[in-house]
Amino acid sequence: MASIRRTLSPPYHDRHYPNGETQVAVPAPSHKPFAASAKPSSASPGVGACRFLAFVLLGKQPRRSWRRSLYRCLLFFLFGFLFGMTPFGHVNELQAPDFSLDIKPPNVNVNVNSRLENAIHRPVRRDEFLHKSLNLEVGAGVGANSGGSSDLVPRKQLIVVTPTYSRAAQAYFLNRLGQVLRLVPPPLLWIVVETNVVSAETADILRKSGVMYRHLVCTKNSTDIKDRGVHQRNTALEHIEHHKLDGIVYFADDDNIYSLELFHSLRHIRHFGTWPIAMLAQSKNKAILEGPVCNGSQVIGWHTNEKSKRLRRFHVDMSGFAINSTILWDPKRWRRRTPHPIRQLDTVKEGFQETTFIEQVVEDESQMEGIPFGCPRIINWHLHLEARKFIYPKGWLFDKNLEADLMVM
Ligand code: UDP
Ligand code: MN
Repeated sequence: MASIRRTLSPPYHDRHYPNGETQVAVPAPSHKPFAASAKPSSASPGVGACRFLAFVLLGKQPRRSWRRSLYRCLLFFLFGFLFGMTPFGHVNELQAPDFSLDIKPPNVNVNVNSRLENAIHRPVRRDEFLHKSLNLEVGAGVGANSGGSSDLVPRKQLIVVTPTYSRAAQAYFLNRLGQVLRLVPPPLLWIVVETNVVSAETADILRKSGVMYRHLVCTKNSTDIKDRGVHQRNTALEHIEHHKLDGIVYFADDDNIYSLELFHSLRHIRHFGTWPIAMLAQSKNKAILEGPVCNGSQVIGWHTNEKSKRLRRFHVDMSGFAINSTILWDPKRWRRRTPHPIRQLDTVKEGFQETTFIEQVVEDESQMEGIPFGCPRIINWHLHLEARKFIYPKGWLFDKNLEADLMVM
């Protein structure tokens, strides 16, 4: 370094100022950073090369002006920029670069069949990733038939209404239903209604269910067991109407059996959807099939093998239909004539709750949608089990250890 400085031309020599500071010398006439050509008489032939080396390797020449530093910066920036833009490898220059977000899951070392393996190792595309994280359905709903995979529609909320009460079988029924609902892709709101009080047993099951829920109380008590369920469902309807909850409302009693296909199909309902159900009663020796006969999604008739209920306008079970919640709180949207709230009636005889409710919602079959397409199979089962009054430990918790059976040897 010192030897290089010694070779500098006189104009580059330091000037010493009275205050003892060394100031940068006045620039030489030539501003070229490695100006071997502007050589002073004392410069050796290798001076230019040395300056260049010093310039490149040491990177600083405190005696030069700020402009030189600036030029150097610009020069290096230019080199870096050109280097960065140089295409390496096999990039097809005619193709636009693919910036799609491909997230590859780590390899999973398990023995799986090839189809499952494909599913595990297949990269997740950006649209799928968005779909999963934003609750979007690809090509569902309005754009379902357009054929384009770019139709991203928010998934419809499902509002599942369940009347319930504490009894021995409740933990079994409510846990079973809760675990199915947990498998349904969100958004899903479970409205669970009890009479008089929020019981600790029900609250505990709901808390552990992992499902988004609201636990409501129906204050209207009734001596008739059938009417209790009706009033509880009405409490949920009032709640949906009051809070203008938006989604597909489905009445799911706690003791019935529901498939995931059912909840998937509910999301295709626009206004009013219905489907056939199977009723399993202990007192009968055959399954009662009840519900719409469909031509595609069009309802063209009804089926029931319950002779006592032939007078009903619509042969639909409580667990065999679902409605758009906006019908409850936005009548103008559906051109509904009566301004009265839509409710289940406790004044009609058993078996007529469903038809009298549906008559408030739609005028005729033309406003109905049969699901799944063609109504080809049973997707849920209504159980009529005898409600036996078992004695059981409350909440299925033990205050003290169970008594051990003494083994007689
Ligand atoms: N239910 C209720 N309180 C009662 C009786 C019934 O909450 O006092 C609920 C019950 O848990 C179920 C629904 O109402 O979710 C229908 O009751 P049930 O299964 O006894 O009626 P069914 O299937 O015989 O029509
Ligand atoms: Mn039941």
